[in-house]
Amino acid sequence: TATLSGKVALVTGGSRGIGAAIVKRLASVGAAVAFTYASAVQKAEELVKEVEAAGGKALALRADSSDPDSVKGAVSDTVKAFGGINILVNNAGLLEVKPYDQFTIEEFDHLMAVNVRAIFAAVQAAAPQMGEGDRILTIGSINGDISAFPGMSLYSMAKAAVAGLTRGLARDLAPLGITVNNLQPGPIDTDMNPADGSMAPMLKGLISLGRYGKATEVAGLVSYLASPEAAYITGASINIDGGFMI
Ligand code: NDP
Repeated sequence: TATLSGKVALVTGGSRGIGAAIVKRLASVGAAVAFTYASAVQKAEELVKEVEAAGGKALALRADSSDPDSVKGAVSDTVKAFGGINILVNNAGLLEVKPYDQFTIEEFDHLMAVNVRAIFAAVQAAAPQMGEGDRILTIGSINGDISAFPGMSLYSMAKAAVAGLTRGLARDLAPLGITVNNLQPGPIDTDMNPADGSMAPMLKGLISLGRYGKATEVAGLVSYLASPEAAYITGASINIDGGFMI
């Protein structure tokens, strides 16, 4: 069923991983979907072709999330191409794991720029174009609540900031009828955190279900939260983590 037919979505970091699964899923239920990427031009173009071959609408936009103007430009390009914006999915993010004393201040600023500041910039550009029933969704992380092993200082900080930003924005945007929510995945099999990577055996031991999640499973929750049925959920951080360290 085309639950999102007539809606326009923008997904940041849509060229690979969780973002690409979200692009495909939202297009499959009828949304026209623009997505950003940092450098993976070829993957982005392939994804547009894949969505179009399945009868959907997609648009790839190169926009580096570390630059707020670039993010705002992607919002206005989406509005120009598809005539508006109803669903903003802040997915682009980066993971750096190392002992706190090995991070430079430049790395701190870059991680916060991509994982937190870009979300604020996107919302500032998109919300004024949105209205009743529209949706802002962010891919945070279970690491916003839990730092299960050493090396997570900056990533955990950024994902906790995302949860707080979600609550504050949900308050600010409620009068406009826009809901704002944060998804907190546990380990999901992507290039960022491969199910056969070096961290995998340790992580699997912490997951009740004993396996990594799939990007399509996160995309399914995004699709639900973007739908009219999810109208009474706002300001929430919702775990989708296979029972990570419960
Ligand atoms: P991947 O590294 O597999 O993909 C990252 C995507 O974000 C790519 O499309 C990439 O574009 C894009 N991206 C990265 N940096 C930028 C940037 N500066 N500007 C624009 N786009 C950028 O990551 P995942 O799919 O695993 O992660 C997606 C989100 O989910 C992130 O916010 C992450 O923190 C979160 N998450 C992931 C988990 C996991 O276990 N995988 C668990 C919990 C949360 P390009 O292809 O051009 O590089």
